[in-house]
Amino acid sequence: MIEFKNLTKTYNGINAVDNLSLTIENGEIFGLLGPNGAGKSTTILMLCGLIQPTSGECLIDGTEVSKNPVEVKRNIGYMPEDVGFYQNLTAEQNLSFFAKLYDMNKELRDKKIPELLELVGLEGVEKTVGGYSKGMRQRLGIAKALINDPSVVILDEPTANLDPQGVSDYRKIIRQISDSEKTVLVSSHILSEVSKVCSDVGIMQKGRLVHRGSWQELSGSLNICGLESIIINLEAESEIPELAISDITGTEISADGRRAVITAKSDVRSEISRVLNRNNVLIKELCIDQTTLEDAVLSYYNLEAAN
Ligand code: ADP
Repeated sequence: MIEFKNLTKTYNGINAVDNLSLTIENGEIFGLLGPNGAGKSTTILMLCGLIQPTSGECLIDGTEVSKNPVEVKRNIGYMPEDVGFYQNLTAEQNLSFFAKLYDMNKELRDKKIPELLELVGLEGVEKTVGGYSKGMRQRLGIAKALINDPSVVILDEPTANLDPQGVSDYRKIIRQISDSEKTVLVSSHILSEVSKVCSDVGIMQKGRLVHRGSWQELSGSLNICGLESIIINLEAESEIPELAISDITGTEISADGRRAVITAKSDVRSEISRVLNRNNVLIKELCIDQTTLEDAVLSYYNLEAAN
């Protein structure tokens, strides 16, 4: 579990992180979103014990980071944007080097390292890291972050510079990690990266948390984001009837009549489901389109931090 309590970091009189309070439970994949300069990296550096807060505290599984840096570092796996590896060593040799820093004995290393290489899809790769693609390096970075079997895994801008295959591999690995009850914190300014893997999100703006909640809650607050139009995807078990709802401004129906892309002035999902129920049409999917969620997040980026 990760807890931030009234966490503040001030540089030259300016709060890079401003009174941040937030709890992230075990097994959660939490996305910390925000534009460049919002304070994400500063927050993570304090969480890892790499810089000291000006005031407030960070706790990992109940232990305060700044007072117990050595103990806390054993429970954290941190992957910075650019992970450093020995170029002339293989993945296995690099991981072995880091494992020794954690005092892992040979027996434990011989068990753990092949498991991690398999998790990140680098088992059997003989070449040295100098010959790796960016995606391979990033995957090895995840393995390195997991070497000490941490309860909390922190990934800073994990898919920066990855190609689509690399991004897809990364998502699969993150889901596997959270299945093992670890708490995962992903920091990113790329919305789609966070929305595809994270259960909950926090949006930072000018050092403050301006939104925290699930993607469902974010879509529930679309109307207060001031969006002019919302796109809703609908799929039904049978043909979709006419949706006479005043806020709907456009409907595109598929050839078989069972799928529709609806544009509306507000979140009219409840009204849509009522019409379908009345017509005995079963709903397969009724959700806010990804582009609308992204617009909602961007509208938070543009908000002045209000709390
Ligand atoms: P993000 O990771 O969201 O892009 P950062 O945490 O890097 O944001 O930065 C937050 C703010 O703090 C920015 O305005 C940045 O210029 C400032 N900042 C970060 N580190 C330092 C530092 N070492 N000295 C002075 N200002 C800093």
